[in-house]
Amino acid sequence: MPDKTRKVLILGGTREARRLAELAVTMLPMRVEVITSYAGRTKRPSDPPGTIREGGFGGTQGLAAYLKDTGINLVVDATHPFAERISDHAFDACVNTETQRLQLARPPWRLQTNAKWTEVSDMAAAADAVGHFARRAFLTTGTQDIEAFSDATDTWFLVRLIEAPTEPLPLTEHEIILARPPFTLDDEKALLVEHQIDTVVSKHAGGPLPAKITAALDLGLPIILIQQPPPVPGNQVDSVEAALAWILSQL
Ligand code: NAP
Repeated sequence: MPDKTRKVLILGGTREARRLAELAVTMLPMRVEVITSYAGRTKRPSDPPGTIREGGFGGTQGLAAYLKDTGINLVVDATHPFAERISDHAFDACVNTETQRLQLARPPWRLQTNAKWTEVSDMAAAADAVGHFARRAFLTTGTQDIEAFSDATDTWFLVRLIEAPTEPLPLTEHEIILARPPFTLDDEKALLVEHQIDTVVSKHAGGPLPAKITAALDLGLPIILIQQPPPVPGNQVDSVEAALAWILSQL
């Protein structure tokens, strides 16, 4: 009689989630099913191995029902550090269903102390800072956060998005470029120079320093960094390998 299948749900949408699914499918015993969940808002060039599910669960209760109905044994929340809602829902749903949960977090960026960067608490504070000293800003925060910058009417924005917005952006002066990471340092520098950017605005996403930040540092440009929301309580690791080891330890 074969062992009962154990099911691991990876809440995804990040490169770490993809990597974890790849390692888990390759390295975990056959009787483990790896399910990666996507919000399903942007197209993906490809899917990681394992089972894929897509779309919201319907809040905390919907997620709790999914965990029970699907027989999920373990949840790894590998969502983006700024994806606050799904992480809160995962915390509550796992408590309510007594499902083991792990947060796969990212180590913070370490920037030189002499670099021109300012950390602000949220988008509104970033928009306020932009309004004060940026004339030509590079914005990569994603469409849903752009509204916060609508009052910075004296600033021109270069907005980089993965997919074209479905509605006009609420910015007075801007240009949109569509591109999907990864980006090279040379290309990022060329982009900043070509558009005469004087300020880079970015979420402090953590993990490996992205080329846009290194490019801004190399060019001596000011960077406005939006702080990560506080992490949800509970088990947390900051590497894909540690997350894999945690899954193994729970089987
Ligand atoms: P969010 O505000 O925390 O979540 C909004 C809603 O989207 C959630 O309540 C949930 O719907 C659904 N959702 C989010 N992630 C999901 C997942 N992995 N699987 C199934 N449903 C999910 O999230 P967000 O900031 O909009 O980000 C959406 C996705 O993009 C996340 O998976 C995240 O990892 C990825 N991402 C986000 C950012 C960012 O800057 N926020 C950057 C890169 C990638 P229900 O309530 O209906 O369950």
